[in-house]
Amino acid sequence: MPLTGNTSLIFFIGGILHRLFLFITIASLFFLASCGEARKIDELKKTVVSLEHELDSLQQENKKREENQLTNLQVVHDSVQAGEGLFQVLNRMGINDEQRRKIVLSIQDSVELSILKVGQRFYAAKDSAQNVRIFRYEANPATIHLLFLNPETSLFEYKLVSKPLVKKQSVFEGVLESGSTLNGLLFQVGIPGRMVGIVSGVLQCKVAFQHAQPGDRFRILLEESFYQDSIWISGKVLYAEFEGRVVGHHEAFRYEDPDPKSTFNAHYTASGEALIFDGLRYPLDRLHITSSFGSRIHPITGSRTMHNGVDYGSPRGAPVYAVAEGTVIKSGFDQYSGNKIAIRHRDNSTSWYLHLDKRSVSVGTRVAPRQVIGRVGSTGRSTGPHLHFGFTNAKGKWINPLTKTMIATPKLEGARLARLQVQVEEIKKELALTEAQEPQKANDSLDVNVRMRVLP
Ligand SMILES: [Zn+2]
Repeated sequence: MPLTGNTSLIFFIGGILHRLFLFITIASLFFLASCGEARKIDELKKTVVSLEHELDSLQQENKKREENQLTNLQVVHDSVQAGEGLFQVLNRMGINDEQRRKIVLSIQDSVELSILKVGQRFYAAKDSAQNVRIFRYEANPATIHLLFLNPETSLFEYKLVSKPLVKKQSVFEGVLESGSTLNGLLFQVGIPGRMVGIVSGVLQCKVAFQHAQPGDRFRILLEESFYQDSIWISGKVLYAEFEGRVVGHHEAFRYEDPDPKSTFNAHYTASGEALIFDGLRYPLDRLHITSSFGSRIHPITGSRTMHNGVDYGSPRGAPVYAVAEGTVIKSGFDQYSGNKIAIRHRDNSTSWYLHLDKRSVSVGTRVAPRQVIGRVGSTGRSTGPHLHFGFTNAKGKWINPLTKTMIATPKLEGARLARLQVQVEEIKKELALTEAQEPQKANDSLDVNVRMRVLP
């Protein structure tokens, strides 16, 4: 649907300014249009005036070229509906095949296009020839991905806009009452379900909750990011503690490697024991999913295909690990899978590793969990280095590998263990600072207190 209101605003500033400035301004206008806040548009107009001065010398040389290019853009937008991928959304926005291909190729390294959520919005500003000049994807209200068409190269240039977020820590503290469960209490005080799941998931590795008693204590430390103070963007559980008369005292700490996508980022005891029930090992050290399991519509071609595994984007040569103990039942090459390895596990399930650059095990080899079996490559039918990881159950049926629990290691060692110990001390300091705040009742009817602290 066209938004003609934007066109006149873009016209107001469009003809006179340097291209870079235009990019920033139009990007901001896009954002404001979605908020519809007149006050902010006024503030922006003031910014426009001051920037005009700063860019006075630059604008002369670019004036002529830009004048006729960005003054007449029409904005269209649409959002993801249930069961859809990017292909359907771009189609509805009237974006042609050639531009769709360019948009997908320009944005796919920065955005996990296979896991779009219902309601996420896309905007495109088209010129009079119906070419997309600016493309905007709002992953969440604070994270905006922009593409600008460079008229000289006819290629899109990518820019990430991250809105400032407010970080808050909260400590929730309480006791179990007769008939209450930890899970139930955490839901009732309004903690997002994903974080409740993490708290109970890590604690139940140590706490036999069927033996929890009324009067048993719990304490958790959350760190959450908000946009404009109240829109929840993300959160993590830094610490969880349970102290029970029968089940004893247990603590869980969040550990992080420098790489936010590291497979080692998880919850551990203070001594480095992973808090997860006998999971598989991850097949890589870093997880960047470029294509998920299941039936999907290709974002460029629109054809429907069944993808019977998960694709992880990875640099060529990264080590590929066996996800569990087993015996190699295939190690070979074919034109579709490239270099391929299959490992049969004790329960007769089989893990599959495709497109490898190098294979380092042969049929019949016994492998241990996390043993290196090959290197990431792009052999067979593949457009770039990645690992296609598949999993078949004992009956030979393909299942979604992401439904399997995976861990990098059952116990941190060496440099990672030392790093965990530093982080444990930091978390204890953060906990003490947040605990020093005034307590409030988390919920009128429950005996749960919350203390909150806005991080500097
Ligand atoms: Zn694949």
